[in-house]
Amino acid sequence: MPQPYSAVDLHCHTRASDGRLRPEEVVAEAARCGVQLLAITDHDTTAGLDEAQRAAAAAGVGLLPGVELSTQWQGRTIHVVGLAIDPAAPGLVAGLRRLDTERQRRADAIAARLDRLGLTEAASLARADAGDARLTRTHFARALVTVGRCKSVGAAFKRYLAPGRGAYVAAEWPELTEAMDWIRDAGGQAVLAHPQAYQFGSGLRERLIAAFAAAGGGAIEVCCGNSTASDVERARREAEMHGLCGSIGSDFHAPGQPWAQLGRVAPLPRTTKPVWNRLR
Ligand code: AMP
Ligand code: MN
Ligand code: MN
Ligand code: MN
Repeated sequence: MPQPYSAVDLHCHTRASDGRLRPEEVVAEAARCGVQLLAITDHDTTAGLDEAQRAAAAAGVGLLPGVELSTQWQGRTIHVVGLAIDPAAPGLVAGLRRLDTERQRRADAIAARLDRLGLTEAASLARADAGDARLTRTHFARALVTVGRCKSVGAAFKRYLAPGRGAYVAAEWPELTEAMDWIRDAGGQAVLAHPQAYQFGSGLRERLIAAFAAAGGGAIEVCCGNSTASDVERARREAEMHGLCGSIGSDFHAPGQPWAQLGRVAPLPRTTKPVWNRLR
């Protein structure tokens, strides 16, 4: 069931990482959908925030500077959103530089694998498509669709880019707690992104959320674009149990993806404390 539009959306992407729209186009889309408080949270970069801030001021949309950091915890990839960050904070800037280096290293390794699979053209297309943006697996997946090798981005992940597949290369992301320190040093709140996305047994998930809370985490995304009612209920309970606030975010990347449209996200459960009440 599509959600009614929410006035708050604190997780989305632009062309600065793997989103399809420019920052000003994302802001225009937010205004069109009635989103009054928006956070732009590109993967491992704050490069889209200046343009977004100018567009948001002109459109009367409240914009929180954000970022979605790639991290690891117990050897598994975990995404942490930083909200209301100062993009100029030195610790964060240095962390983003390190993430960029690792992204480039991994992209070179993915390209080499595609090369060996006879898919050199897809690798160069991905780079050209990304330009100055953070190069993500999404860019490689889209390129595999463009060259006609896969029918959809989802199929490209399944066939080539998911763990264990031919063009998959593991990334050495920084530790979860390290990335959370960068967010704290930048004056922001750390939010555990899309908890339903991790394929964890309940014990491991419980430990992740406990570790996140112990490291100073502020909130967990209780409502995401693709959350089911039981995902929301589970995250609500976890937030309550660990004294965390709740956040909501669509994880919008591109128009035409019904599971993640800007502002299409359920409201927070009544008893969950909104993270935006404790932001500067
Ligand atoms: P990266 O951070 O470069 O490893 O790329 C991760 C991004 O790929 C995520 O933020 C999603 O946007 C996208 N992604 C991951 N898995 C899938 C999938 N199975 N289908 C479509 N997109 C995916
Ligand atoms: Mn993405
Ligand atoms: Mn994510
Ligand atoms: Mn995201």
